[in-house]
Amino acid sequence: MGTAGMTGLHTDLIRRISETGPITLADFMATCLMDPTHGYYATRDPFGTDGDFVTAPEISQMFGELLGLCLAQSWLDQGQPAPFILAELGPGRGTLMADILRATRAMPGFAEAAEVHFVEGSSALRRIQAKTVGRDDIVWHSHIESLPDAPLWLVANEFFDALPIRQFQRHDDAWRERVVGVQDQTLAFGLGGPVDPPALTERLDDTRDGDLVEICGPGEAIAAGIGHRIATQGGVALIVDYGDWHSLGDTFQAVQGHAPVDPLSEPGAADLTAHVDFEALARASAPCAHTRLTPQGVFLERLGIGARAEALARNLDGPARENHLAAYRRLTDPAEMGRLFKVLGLYPETATPPPGLDP
Ligand code: SAH
Repeated sequence: MGTAGMTGLHTDLIRRISETGPITLADFMATCLMDPTHGYYATRDPFGTDGDFVTAPEISQMFGELLGLCLAQSWLDQGQPAPFILAELGPGRGTLMADILRATRAMPGFAEAAEVHFVEGSSALRRIQAKTVGRDDIVWHSHIESLPDAPLWLVANEFFDALPIRQFQRHDDAWRERVVGVQDQTLAFGLGGPVDPPALTERLDDTRDGDLVEICGPGEAIAAGIGHRIATQGGVALIVDYGDWHSLGDTFQAVQGHAPVDPLSEPGAADLTAHVDFEALARASAPCAHTRLTPQGVFLERLGIGARAEALARNLDGPARENHLAAYRRLTDPAEMGRLFKVLGLYPETATPPPGLDP
Protein backbone atom coordinates (compact mmCIF):
# COMPACT_ATOMS: atom_id res chain seq x y z
CA MET A 1 0.00 0.00 0.00
CA GLY A 2 1.00 3.60 -0.50
CA THR A 3 3.55 2.80 -3.18
CA ALA A 4 4.05 5.62 -5.64
CA GLY A 5 2.87 5.51 -9.21
CA MET A 6 -0.11 4.05 -10.91
CA THR A 7 -1.90 0.96 -9.78
CA GLY A 8 -3.24 -1.48 -12.36
CA LEU A 9 -6.69 -0.11 -11.75
CA HIS A 10 -5.58 3.48 -12.29
CA THR A 11 -4.24 2.62 -15.74
CA ASP A 12 -7.36 0.56 -16.56
CA LEU A 13 -9.68 3.39 -15.54
CA ILE A 14 -7.79 6.02 -17.53
CA ARG A 15 -7.88 3.82 -20.62
CA ARG A 16 -11.56 3.00 -20.19
CA ILE A 17 -12.59 6.63 -19.62
CA SER A 18 -10.44 7.92 -22.50
CA GLU A 19 -12.13 5.43 -24.82
CA THR A 20 -15.75 5.65 -23.72
CA GLY A 21 -16.12 8.86 -21.71
CA PRO A 22 -16.56 9.86 -18.06
CA ILE A 23 -18.10 7.33 -15.66
CA THR A 24 -20.54 7.84 -12.80
CA LEU A 25 -19.37 7.82 -9.20
CA ALA A 26 -21.27 4.54 -8.81
CA ASP A 27 -19.23 2.92 -11.58
CA PHE A 28 -16.07 4.28 -10.04
CA MET A 29 -16.93 2.99 -6.54
CA ALA A 30 -18.03 -0.43 -7.75
CA THR A 31 -14.82 -0.87 -9.75
CA CYS A 32 -12.50 0.37 -6.99
CA LEU A 33 -14.10 -1.76 -4.28
CA MET A 34 -15.13 -4.92 -6.06
CA ASP A 35 -13.06 -5.36 -9.24
CA PRO A 36 -12.19 -9.09 -9.00
CA THR A 37 -8.44 -8.61 -9.56
CA HIS A 38 -7.61 -5.11 -8.31
CA GLY A 39 -10.61 -4.14 -6.15
CA TYR A 40 -10.13 -3.00 -2.58
CA TYR A 41 -12.16 -5.77 -0.92
CA ALA A 42 -11.16 -8.39 -3.47
CA THR A 43 -7.47 -8.10 -2.67
CA ARG A 44 -7.08 -7.55 1.05
CA ASP A 45 -8.25 -7.85 4.64
CA PRO A 46 -8.66 -4.14 5.45
CA PHE A 47 -9.84 -4.44 9.05
CA GLY A 48 -8.07 -3.82 12.34
CA THR A 49 -5.32 -1.61 13.67
CA ASP A 50 -2.84 -2.69 10.94
CA GLY A 51 -5.46 -2.18 8.25
CA ASP A 52 -7.40 0.84 7.09
CA PHE A 53 -10.32 0.97 9.51
CA VAL A 54 -11.77 -0.79 12.55
CA THR A 55 -15.40 -1.86 12.73
CA ALA A 56 -17.60 -2.40 15.80
CA PRO A 57 -17.38 -6.23 15.89
CA GLU A 58 -13.57 -5.94 15.70
CA ILE A 59 -13.56 -3.49 18.62
CA SER A 60 -15.32 -5.77 21.09
CA GLN A 61 -17.11 -9.11 21.26
CA MET A 62 -19.91 -7.28 23.14
CA PHE A 63 -21.24 -5.80 19.89
CA GLY A 64 -22.01 -9.20 18.36
CA GLU A 65 -23.21 -10.66 21.65
CA LEU A 66 -25.86 -7.97 22.08
CA LEU A 67 -26.97 -8.07 18.44
CA GLY A 68 -27.26 -11.84 18.87
CA LEU A 69 -29.50 -11.48 21.91
CA CYS A 70 -31.63 -8.95 20.06
CA LEU A 71 -32.06 -11.39 17.14
CA ALA A 72 -32.80 -14.32 19.44
CA GLN A 73 -35.40 -12.40 21.46
CA SER A 74 -37.19 -11.25 18.31
CA TRP A 75 -37.10 -14.86 17.05
CA LEU A 76 -38.87 -15.91 20.27
CA ASP A 77 -41.32 -13.01 19.89
CA GLN A 78 -42.24 -14.22 16.41
CA GLY A 79 -42.95 -17.78 17.58
CA GLN A 80 -39.55 -19.47 17.01
CA PRO A 81 -39.97 -20.32 13.32
CA ALA A 82 -37.81 -23.27 12.25
CA PRO A 83 -35.90 -23.45 10.05
CA PHE A 84 -35.00 -19.81 9.50
CA ILE A 85 -32.31 -17.95 7.59
CA LEU A 86 -29.66 -16.24 9.73
CA ALA A 87 -28.06 -13.94 7.18
CA GLU A 88 -25.33 -11.33 7.19
CA LEU A 89 -24.55 -8.85 4.44
CA GLY A 90 -20.84 -8.06 3.99
CA PRO A 91 -19.53 -10.07 6.97
CA GLY A 92 -15.93 -8.78 6.70
CA ARG A 93 -13.80 -11.13 8.79
CA GLY A 94 -16.82 -13.06 10.08
CA THR A 95 -16.33 -11.85 13.64
CA LEU A 96 -19.87 -10.51 14.09
CA MET A 97 -21.50 -13.81 13.08
CA ALA A 98 -19.09 -15.81 15.27
CA ASP A 99 -20.06 -13.65 18.27
CA ILE A 100 -23.78 -13.89 17.42
CA LEU A 101 -23.60 -17.68 17.25
CA ARG A 102 -21.67 -17.94 20.51
CA ALA A 103 -24.00 -15.59 22.39
CA THR A 104 -27.15 -17.35 21.17
CA ARG A 105 -26.01 -20.87 22.06
CA ALA A 106 -27.88 -20.52 25.35
CA MET A 107 -31.17 -19.90 23.56
CA PRO A 108 -32.81 -23.32 23.15
CA GLY A 109 -33.57 -24.20 19.54
CA PHE A 110 -32.10 -21.06 17.97
CA ALA A 111 -28.81 -22.48 16.68
CA GLU A 112 -30.46 -25.71 15.47
CA ALA A 113 -33.08 -23.78 13.51
CA ALA A 114 -30.59 -21.28 12.03
CA GLU A 115 -29.24 -21.74 8.50
CA VAL A 116 -26.28 -19.37 8.14
CA HIS A 117 -26.10 -17.44 4.85
CA PHE A 118 -23.54 -14.79 3.91
CA VAL A 119 -23.82 -12.24 1.12
CA GLU A 120 -20.21 -11.42 0.24
CA GLY A 121 -18.65 -10.20 -2.99
CA SER A 122 -15.00 -10.79 -2.10
CA SER A 123 -13.58 -14.30 -2.38
CA ALA A 124 -10.57 -13.31 -0.25
CA LEU A 125 -12.93 -12.33 2.58
CA ARG A 126 -15.10 -15.45 2.09
CA ARG A 127 -12.06 -17.57 2.96
CA ILE A 128 -11.41 -15.57 6.14
CA GLN A 129 -15.11 -15.76 7.11
CA ALA A 130 -15.10 -19.55 6.75
CA LYS A 131 -12.13 -19.79 9.13
CA THR A 132 -13.53 -17.37 11.70
CA VAL A 133 -16.99 -18.90 11.93
CA GLY A 134 -15.77 -22.50 11.76
CA ARG A 135 -19.03 -24.09 10.56
CA ASP A 136 -19.03 -26.19 7.43
CA ASP A 137 -22.63 -25.45 6.50
CA ILE A 138 -22.35 -21.73 5.66
CA VAL A 139 -23.82 -20.79 2.29
CA TRP A 140 -22.37 -17.81 0.42
CA HIS A 141 -24.23 -15.61 -2.04
CA SER A 142 -23.15 -12.77 -4.31
CA HIS A 143 -26.57 -11.09 -4.10
CA ILE A 144 -29.55 -11.27 -1.74
CA GLU A 145 -31.82 -12.57 -4.53
CA SER A 146 -30.48 -16.11 -4.12
CA LEU A 147 -31.23 -16.33 -0.38
CA PRO A 148 -33.78 -19.15 0.10
CA ASP A 149 -37.40 -18.38 0.94
CA ALA A 150 -37.85 -18.69 4.72
CA PRO A 151 -38.21 -16.39 7.72
CA LEU A 152 -35.18 -14.09 7.66
CA TRP A 153 -33.09 -12.78 10.57
CA LEU A 154 -30.49 -10.50 9.03
CA VAL A 155 -27.67 -8.21 10.15
CA ALA A 156 -25.63 -5.74 8.14
CA ASN A 157 -22.90 -3.71 9.81
CA GLU A 158 -21.05 -1.17 7.65
CA PHE A 159 -22.34 -2.86 4.49
CA PHE A 160 -24.65 -0.23 3.02
CA ASP A 161 -21.96 2.48 3.25
CA ALA A 162 -19.85 0.49 0.77
CA LEU A 163 -22.54 0.35 -1.91
CA PRO A 164 -22.08 2.55 -4.97
CA ILE A 165 -23.74 5.97 -4.88
CA ARG A 166 -24.46 8.53 -7.58
CA GLN A 167 -24.19 12.24 -6.85
CA PHE A 168 -26.22 15.01 -8.47
CA GLN A 169 -25.79 18.74 -8.14
CA ARG A 170 -28.78 21.02 -8.53
CA HIS A 171 -28.68 23.68 -11.25
CA ASP A 172 -31.88 25.71 -11.20
CA ASP A 173 -34.58 23.07 -11.64
CA ALA A 174 -32.37 20.43 -13.24
CA TRP A 175 -29.53 18.22 -12.01
CA ARG A 176 -26.02 17.53 -13.24
CA GLU A 177 -24.35 14.27 -12.32
CA ARG A 178 -20.91 14.24 -10.75
CA VAL A 179 -18.65 12.04 -12.88
CA VAL A 180 -15.05 10.84 -12.99
CA GLY A 181 -13.25 11.85 -16.16
CA VAL A 182 -9.66 12.21 -17.36
CA GLN A 183 -7.78 15.49 -17.49
CA ASP A 184 -4.08 15.75 -18.41
CA GLN A 185 -3.73 11.96 -18.13
CA THR A 186 -5.06 11.83 -14.55
CA LEU A 187 -8.47 11.11 -13.08
CA ALA A 188 -10.54 14.21 -12.28
CA PHE A 189 -14.06 14.96 -11.07
CA GLY A 190 -16.41 16.71 -13.44
CA LEU A 191 -20.10 17.39 -14.02
CA GLY A 192 -22.24 15.83 -16.75
CA GLY A 193 -24.90 17.64 -18.77
CA PRO A 194 -28.33 18.46 -17.26
CA VAL A 195 -30.48 15.41 -16.45
CA ASP A 196 -33.82 14.99 -14.76
CA PRO A 197 -33.94 11.59 -13.02
CA PRO A 198 -37.44 10.76 -11.67
CA ALA A 199 -35.91 9.79 -8.31
CA LEU A 200 -34.87 13.41 -7.80
CA THR A 201 -38.12 15.16 -8.65
CA GLU A 202 -39.20 15.56 -5.05
CA ARG A 203 -35.72 16.62 -3.96
CA LEU A 204 -36.48 19.97 -5.62
CA ASP A 205 -38.61 20.63 -2.50
CA ASP A 206 -35.80 20.39 0.05
CA THR A 207 -32.77 21.62 -1.90
CA ARG A 208 -31.49 24.90 -3.28
CA ASP A 209 -29.47 25.82 -6.34
CA GLY A 210 -25.98 24.31 -5.99
CA ASP A 211 -26.92 21.64 -3.42
CA LEU A 212 -25.61 18.11 -3.87
CA VAL A 213 -27.68 14.97 -3.26
CA GLU A 214 -26.70 11.32 -3.22
CA ILE A 215 -28.68 8.31 -4.35
CA CYS A 216 -27.74 4.72 -3.54
CA GLY A 217 -29.72 2.63 -6.05
CA PRO A 218 -28.28 -0.76 -5.01
CA GLY A 219 -28.94 0.02 -1.33
CA GLU A 220 -32.59 0.81 -2.04
CA ALA A 221 -32.96 -2.33 -4.15
CA ILE A 222 -31.49 -4.50 -1.38
CA ALA A 223 -33.71 -2.86 1.27
CA ALA A 224 -36.72 -3.52 -0.97
CA GLY A 225 -35.75 -7.19 -1.30
CA ILE A 226 -35.26 -7.61 2.47
CA GLY A 227 -38.47 -5.72 3.25
CA HIS A 228 -40.51 -7.88 0.90
CA ARG A 229 -39.14 -11.10 2.43
CA ILE A 230 -39.70 -9.98 6.02
CA ALA A 231 -43.19 -8.66 5.32
CA THR A 232 -44.27 -11.91 3.67
CA GLN A 233 -42.26 -14.55 5.57
CA GLY A 234 -41.42 -12.97 8.91
CA GLY A 235 -38.10 -12.04 10.47
CA VAL A 236 -36.07 -8.99 11.39
CA ALA A 237 -33.25 -6.96 9.85
CA LEU A 238 -30.80 -4.89 11.88
CA ILE A 239 -28.99 -2.34 9.72
CA VAL A 240 -26.11 -0.59 11.47
CA ASP A 241 -24.12 2.12 9.73
CA TYR A 242 -23.08 5.75 9.76
CA GLY A 243 -25.43 8.20 8.23
CA ASP A 244 -28.68 9.90 8.99
CA TRP A 245 -32.39 9.86 8.36
CA HIS A 246 -32.19 12.17 5.38
CA SER A 247 -29.15 12.81 3.24
CA LEU A 248 -27.97 16.12 1.91
CA GLY A 249 -24.50 17.07 0.72
CA ASP A 250 -21.33 15.29 -0.28
CA THR A 251 -20.46 12.39 2.07
CA PHE A 252 -18.25 10.43 -0.35
CA GLN A 253 -14.95 9.61 1.33
CA ALA A 254 -11.80 7.58 0.90
CA VAL A 255 -9.87 6.19 3.88
CA GLN A 256 -6.51 4.50 3.94
CA GLY A 257 -4.43 3.66 7.01
CA HIS A 258 -7.08 5.27 9.29
CA ALA A 259 -6.78 8.66 7.52
CA PRO A 260 -8.74 10.40 4.74
CA VAL A 261 -7.07 10.34 1.31
CA ASP A 262 -7.87 11.64 -2.20
CA PRO A 263 -10.29 9.05 -3.65
CA LEU A 264 -8.86 9.46 -7.17
CA SER A 265 -5.16 9.12 -6.36
CA GLU A 266 -4.82 5.33 -5.95
CA PRO A 267 -8.02 3.58 -7.04
CA GLY A 268 -8.43 0.20 -5.37
CA ALA A 269 -6.05 1.02 -2.53
CA ALA A 270 -8.44 2.98 -0.31
CA ASP A 271 -11.80 2.17 1.24
CA LEU A 272 -14.57 4.22 -0.36
CA THR A 273 -17.80 4.94 1.49
CA ALA A 274 -20.75 7.28 1.67
CA HIS A 275 -23.13 7.98 4.53
CA VAL A 276 -26.28 5.89 4.51
CA ASP A 277 -29.60 7.61 3.81
CA PHE A 278 -31.75 5.56 6.21
CA GLU A 279 -34.96 7.25 5.13
CA ALA A 280 -34.43 5.95 1.60
CA LEU A 281 -33.84 2.41 2.93
CA ALA A 282 -36.89 2.54 5.21
CA ARG A 283 -39.11 3.75 2.37
CA ALA A 284 -37.81 1.10 0.00
CA SER A 285 -38.47 -1.64 2.57
CA ALA A 286 -42.27 -1.06 2.60
CA PRO A 287 -44.63 -2.88 3.22
CA CYS A 288 -42.32 -3.98 6.02
CA ALA A 289 -42.49 -1.88 9.21
CA HIS A 290 -39.39 -0.02 10.34
CA THR A 291 -38.22 1.19 13.74
CA ARG A 292 -37.10 4.67 14.60
CA LEU A 293 -33.53 5.36 13.62
CA THR A 294 -31.64 4.89 16.90
CA PRO A 295 -28.08 5.88 17.80
CA GLN A 296 -25.83 2.84 18.27
CA GLY A 297 -24.90 3.93 21.82
CA VAL A 298 -28.54 4.16 22.89
CA PHE A 299 -29.36 0.80 21.29
CA LEU A 300 -26.46 -1.02 22.97
CA GLU A 301 -27.18 0.56 26.38
CA ARG A 302 -30.84 -0.50 26.16
CA LEU A 303 -29.73 -4.06 25.42
CA GLY A 304 -27.57 -4.06 28.55
CA ILE A 305 -24.03 -3.42 27.32
CA GLY A 306 -23.24 -1.65 30.63
CA ALA A 307 -23.88 -4.78 32.69
CA ARG A 308 -22.09 -6.98 30.15
CA ALA A 309 -19.07 -4.64 30.18
CA GLU A 310 -18.93 -4.79 33.98
CA ALA A 311 -19.20 -8.58 34.06
CA LEU A 312 -16.34 -8.94 31.57
CA ALA A 313 -14.26 -6.32 33.41
CA ARG A 314 -14.39 -8.36 36.62
CA ASN A 315 -12.17 -11.02 35.04
CA LEU A 316 -9.64 -8.54 33.70
CA ASP A 317 -6.94 -6.33 35.13
CA GLY A 318 -4.14 -4.01 34.00
CA PRO A 319 -3.97 -3.06 30.32
CA ALA A 320 -6.52 -5.75 29.30
CA ARG A 321 -9.10 -4.12 31.57
CA GLU A 322 -8.23 -0.63 30.28
CA ASN A 323 -8.58 -1.83 26.66
CA HIS A 324 -11.89 -3.47 27.40
CA LEU A 325 -13.30 -0.32 29.02
CA ALA A 326 -11.98 1.81 26.17
CA ALA A 327 -13.74 -0.51 23.69
CA TYR A 328 -17.00 -0.12 25.62
CA ARG A 329 -16.65 3.68 25.46
CA ARG A 330 -15.72 3.58 21.79
CA LEU A 331 -18.89 1.69 20.88
CA THR A 332 -21.27 3.75 23.00
CA ASP A 333 -19.89 7.25 23.73
CA PRO A 334 -21.66 9.94 21.67
CA ALA A 335 -18.27 11.53 21.01
CA GLU A 336 -16.98 8.25 19.53
CA MET A 337 -19.16 5.76 17.57
CA GLY A 338 -22.21 6.06 19.82
CA ARG A 339 -24.00 8.81 17.90
CA LEU A 340 -22.50 8.77 14.39
CA PHE A 341 -23.54 5.13 13.96
CA LYS A 342 -27.25 4.40 13.83
CA VAL A 343 -29.45 1.31 13.92
CA LEU A 344 -32.56 0.75 11.81
CA GLY A 345 -34.74 -2.30 12.44
CA LEU A 346 -37.11 -3.84 9.89
CA TYR A 347 -39.89 -6.16 11.06
CA PRO A 348 -43.34 -7.37 9.97
CA GLU A 349 -46.19 -4.92 10.63
CA THR A 350 -47.92 -7.58 12.72
CA ALA A 351 -44.92 -8.22 15.03
CA THR A 352 -43.34 -6.26 17.87
CA PRO A 353 -40.18 -4.32 17.00
CA PRO A 354 -36.85 -5.96 17.91
CA PRO A 355 -35.68 -5.16 21.48
CA GLY A 356 -33.73 -1.93 21.91
CA LEU A 357 -35.61 -0.18 19.09
CA ASP A 358 -38.88 1.83 19.12
CA PRO A 359 -41.66 1.56 16.53
N1 SAH B 1 -19.54 -6.15 8.44
C1 SAH B 1 -18.11 -6.22 8.55
C2 SAH B 1 -17.38 -5.66 7.32
C3 SAH B 1 -17.76 -4.31 6.80
S1 SAH B 1 -16.83 -3.86 5.35
C4 SAH B 1 -17.65 -5.56 9.82
O1 SAH B 1 -18.45 -4.89 10.46
O2 SAH B 1 -16.48 -5.72 10.19
C5 SAH B 1 -17.94 -4.18 4.02
C6 SAH B 1 -18.17 -5.64 3.71
O3 SAH B 1 -19.13 -5.72 2.64
C7 SAH B 1 -16.98 -6.44 3.22
O4 SAH B 1 -17.10 -7.77 3.65
C8 SAH B 1 -17.11 -6.32 1.69
O5 SAH B 1 -16.39 -7.29 0.98
C9 SAH B 1 -18.60 -6.46 1.54
N2 SAH B 1 -19.17 -5.84 0.34
C10 SAH B 1 -19.01 -4.55 -0.04
N3 SAH B 1 -19.73 -4.29 -1.17
C11 SAH B 1 -20.35 -5.44 -1.49
C12 SAH B 1 -21.24 -5.82 -2.54
N4 SAH B 1 -21.61 -4.94 -3.47
N5 SAH B 1 -21.69 -7.09 -2.56
C13 SAH B 1 -21.32 -7.97 -1.62
N6 SAH B 1 -20.49 -7.67 -0.59
C14 SAH B 1 -20.00 -6.43 -0.52
